[in-house]
Amino acid sequence: MKDKWGRTIDYLRLSLTDRCNLRCRYCMPEAVASVGHEAVLRYEEMLQICRAALALGIDCFKITGGEPLVRKGAADFMRALKAMDGVRSVTLTTNGLLLPEVLPDLVHMGIDGINISLDSLDASQYAALTGGGDVSVVLQALKEAAVQGVNVKVNAVLLAETQAQILPLAALAGSLPVDVRFIELMPIGYGTTLKGLAEADALAVLRRAYPDLTAAGERRGNGPASYYRSRSLKGCIGFIAANTHAFCVSCNRLRLTSTGFLKPCLCYDDGVDLRAIVRSGKSMDTIYQDLQCVMAEAIYEKPAKHCFAEQDHISEHKTMNQIGG
Ligand code: SAM
Ligand code: SF4
Repeated sequence: MKDKWGRTIDYLRLSLTDRCNLRCRYCMPEAVASVGHEAVLRYEEMLQICRAALALGIDCFKITGGEPLVRKGAADFMRALKAMDGVRSVTLTTNGLLLPEVLPDLVHMGIDGINISLDSLDASQYAALTGGGDVSVVLQALKEAAVQGVNVKVNAVLLAETQAQILPLAALAGSLPVDVRFIELMPIGYGTTLKGLAEADALAVLRRAYPDLTAAGERRGNGPASYYRSRSLKGCIGFIAANTHAFCVSCNRLRLTSTGFLKPCLCYDDGVDLRAIVRSGKSMDTIYQDLQCVMAEAIYEKPAKHCFAEQDHISEHKTMNQIGG
């Protein structure tokens, strides 16, 4: 359905858990506590919400977290979601560490894409940024997924301290058929504690190495990335520049936290508690109707734009792992 600004909302980012096996400094450093298990939606409850979302025209689902693959049964959940009538795409975003264990299942169920977060190829820098992650495991998982024919995208947050990694990361799109996307650091949660780079800074570095880099002028996937191509690269280079090229005018997404809070915009803490509805004890039919009703209202009232440029107006104070980035 459309919101009051005329945007079609057809994409839901669904967080399976706020827990994670890494501690990325801009997302979930050591200090962040996890919510209790009882507070987290059960898979059946998530599927009920997805059914109501489908009735409103939301047919693309991104599975996120926290780290979604730390939750037991994540692959079975994705299979069940993918099998629901009307679902157009189910994609996953992961840090990749647990991917090897579930990759065969994901390939078998026909996952529509996997985004792997990877900010540095330098082993010690990666470990320092993530609180101890082993980059070689992520790289192996990335290669394996690409070999298996999965649509793979690498997501790298643009940090001042990883500027020297822009070219090594981009080179992954030269050796493998994967898109490499650079994400501007957003001032959400611990994102305010690090210094980020802008798309223009990264583009300048990339243009020196790939002088033929040109805007691809095509939409790839369901997200807001803009893409560039070079004859030297198999995949595309993408940018998700929420700060310097706000894409709110074409925003198509909602977020559902692992505790069932539906968020129309990343920037504000407004939203609706869908967990209270699915746990209301009412009949399945009534729950289905109630979910549609409150989701339709939340969609209609989706804010026109984020306020990253005026940081005192940001009312969202949860960390990115709690929101479902
Ligand atoms: N654990 C999974 C992963 O790392 O892909 C999924 C959840 S993680 C929150 C999703 C994405 O959000 C990752 O690509 C991560 O780098 C990104 N992210 C986290 N905090 C961010 C921030 N403040 N600004 C921009 N991206 C951020
Ligand atoms: Fe975990 Fe992903 Fe956050 Fe890193 S970005 S701490 S991998 S949820």
